[in-house]
Amino acid sequence: MASVFTHLVVGLALGTAFRRDPTPRRFWFAGALGSACPDLDAVGYWAGVPYGHLLGHRGLTHSPAFAAALAATIVACAFPRRVWPHPRAPLWLYLFLAIASHGVLDATTNGGLGVAFLAPFSAERWFLPWRPIWVSPIGVRAFFTPYGLDVLVTEILWVWLPALGFVAGAAVLRRRRGRRPATGS
Ligand SMILES: [Zn+2]
Repeated sequence: MASVFTHLVVGLALGTAFRRDPTPRRFWFAGALGSACPDLDAVGYWAGVPYGHLLGHRGLTHSPAFAAALAATIVACAFPRRVWPHPRAPLWLYLFLAIASHGVLDATTNGGLGVAFLAPFSAERWFLPWRPIWVSPIGVRAFFTPYGLDVLVTEILWVWLPALGFVAGAAVLRRRRGRRPATGS
């Protein structure tokens, strides 16, 4: 897996392109937690579910199908009209991208099994052809080791910096849109 910090960074960065003013706090919470939650499948790992199983680590919870279903559930349950009076499709799209980004990031790491992108229809595992991110150690303390720091450096280089560029781009577009004069009568 990529580190939980990096999943959170991507989930929050994506949100800058979809937020609406005023942005409810739960918008950020849903995106950040959604981007990290596929690793809840680690519970199965401790319970003895084999890694390569459909419900094993990087299995069903890392698939786009899971992301689509979870995003729809969050939109329906956590964003009633009084909280989110805006169109719901972009909100769903944001949460889908935040959750699905987890599997994509994991598929760019250099360790473990690949990601079951086609779950629940297939348990086959996949990596992306380009895998620059070192697989993350487990536990916070492991990051304070030479290997843990090297992992963070690769993630900062290949994920955090592009995410920062994305946030800056979204901010520029938002400002431009805000400056555009109103048309029509
Ligand atoms: Zn993962």
